[in-house]
Amino acid sequence: MNTSTQNYQDVLARINSAEAHCQRPHQSVKLLAVSKTKPIEMINELAALGQKAFGENYLQESLEKMAQRPDLEWHFIGPIQSNKTKPIAEHFDWVESVDRLKIAQRLSAQRPNNKPPLNILLQVNISQEASKSGFMPNELIAMATEMASLPGLVIRGLMAIPKVETQFERQRIAFRQMHQLFSQLQQTLGHAHIDTLSIGMSSDLEAAIAEGSTQVRIGTDLFGERK
Ligand SMILES: *Cc1c(COP(=O)(O)O)cnc(C)c1O
Repeated sequence: MNTSTQNYQDVLARINSAEAHCQRPHQSVKLLAVSKTKPIEMINELAALGQKAFGENYLQESLEKMAQRPDLEWHFIGPIQSNKTKPIAEHFDWVESVDRLKIAQRLSAQRPNNKPPLNILLQVNISQEASKSGFMPNELIAMATEMASLPGLVIRGLMAIPKVETQFERQRIAFRQMHQLFSQLQQTLGHAHIDTLSIGMSSDLEAAIAEGSTQVRIGTDLFGERK
């Protein structure tokens, strides 16, 4: 078995066992394969094994990959400069890193009419770190309410990158806060479309799944270390 196949099976096994461990249904947690900096060949390998959804952070690189694999589902997960929203709105299926009202307004206005509304997640600065982007927890619901009326978007939920913690119980704290905000968002906007809580990466996916993650974003453990 080659490395990609082995890594893919290992990550899926970790997700399955985390689901089972907290009595969550099998396949209730989706896998987003974070392929930033990795070549198209590695994406093709994983796609051949059945992986559909890929996450990218860098616009130029991702445009080249999307042109080669328009059949896959592409999620933008990196920081967004407001002068780069147009190609993002035109080419991606999901944007998980919406962190300002202005960005949401531009994505909505620039989403082509012949495509379905862009799926978005609101990024939350859950550990309230100056170095990270995202809405502050106390402004989130008001902002989401305002964005809910934008016609080119559909708000699907929340994303966060909490402060790094190595201990399981400590990892759970920020994820639990995210789940509370997610429930509040569902109560405010209705449950119909709010179905995605994107939390958990290579080093903390078990803690995120224990706190209700519906999608983990995995780079390193699938593709190896990045340079
Ligand atoms: C790079 C990245 C990931 C993947 O992180 P790993 O630790 O390599 O699994 C997940 N989410 C976001 C937003 C990222 O930028």
